[in-house]
Amino acid sequence: MLVGGGVRDLLLRHAPKDFDIATDALPEDVKKLFSNSRLIGRRFRLAHVFFGRDIIEVATFRASQLDENNNSNNDLDRAHDDSGRILRDNVYGQLEDDVWRRDFTVNALYYDIADFSIVDYTSAMDDIENKILRLIGDPETRYREDPVRMLRAIRFAAKLDFTIHPDSERPIFELGHLLADIPPARLYDEVLKLFHSGKGVASLQLLRKYDLLQYLFKPADDALKQSNEFFEAFIYMALESTDKRINQGQPVTPAFLFAAMLWGTVDKLTEKLKQSGESGSIAIQNASSVVLSQQVKTISIPKRFSMVVRDIWQMQYRFKFRHGRRAKALLVHKKFRAAYDFMCIRSRAGQVKDDSCEWWTRIQVLGAQEQDILLNPAKTKSRKKKTAPKS
Ligand code: ATP
Ligand code: MG
Repeated sequence: MLVGGGVRDLLLRHAPKDFDIATDALPEDVKKLFSNSRLIGRRFRLAHVFFGRDIIEVATFRASQLDENNNSNNDLDRAHDDSGRILRDNVYGQLEDDVWRRDFTVNALYYDIADFSIVDYTSAMDDIENKILRLIGDPETRYREDPVRMLRAIRFAAKLDFTIHPDSERPIFELGHLLADIPPARLYDEVLKLFHSGKGVASLQLLRKYDLLQYLFKPADDALKQSNEFFEAFIYMALESTDKRINQGQPVTPAFLFAAMLWGTVDKLTEKLKQSGESGSIAIQNASSVVLSQQVKTISIPKRFSMVVRDIWQMQYRFKFRHGRRAKALLVHKKFRAAYDFMCIRSRAGQVKDDSCEWWTRIQVLGAQEQDILLNPAKTKSRKKKTAPKS
């Protein structure tokens, strides 16, 4: 049986990202059947079957949390914590059980590849028709079981352009604080899905509407709540540019997203440190460390990306040097392009007062020799003088 986003996206004529398979076979049996597979997950055990570069996720039907007649009362198979959060979910069942533990109706459609029929227990087809995102079961309970479902609601509403049903949206205003207990690594995955699916602008608007931004990027939320006009313009422009890149199939990096979300704070802190006497480059380094170490308590950022975040920030203070070795070093820096894009967005949002964006745009399209002339006007002139008498 195909299930989840793949079926939903096919019905909505979106290009499905991947296909999830649900089966009545146990994970161990799936593994035996496919030698090219392995079992993953503890909280939620499933099999990954490898086909070349593709991974197909094969999950065994599971029984609902609310179903008392399931096949196990074993605490090892299922556990909740005090707030109702699911810690483990490995009680197997039949398709009729499996439906009810899925999050939204539109994610609970099954496509039977044996007879090409759609199995719909939750009136999901009506919701698809009416573009409604509706949680299965009692919304508050379902959010308490897994608070990340609040972020998933926003992600799917943004991605599919659906409206969250009033009953499903009401608890979000009250339960946002539960996101504070979600492990930083999981929030990292979820944030990338929110902002790297080509719907970043819509995702931010919804995060603000439901007041959830504070649980992901506190500094950005503070800046927006303080009506920081520059930051508001800047962050939407940054997300717009990321959305555009994604929709055109161009690569994007998580570093750009994090650099943008935290920029307001790091810039402010840098200025403060400078005023207290630190030199410019030391100030930005110290400010970066403070802001990043605060942020990773909420959302983990892999080291390879946090280094690039630092680079992007640091380079913002170097664009004013347009001559000599310093400027040349900036131009050939591995992350120049990301930092330059970042600076031009700041410029469009009104933070860069000079013509840096135009100047650095122009120099990139010149040949190496012309670049040298622009970067070293004095040197080039004096060289000309020296060679002049010979001719
Ligand atoms: P995408 O297009 O982003 O892959 P998706 O709907 O396939 O969207 P996945 O995260 O891949 O989302 O999950 C696959 C399916 O597993 C979902 O459609 C849903 O039925 C179920 N599911 C995933 N996460 C949860 C959750 N936190 N709670 C309940 N059901 C979930
Ligand atoms: Mg999926």
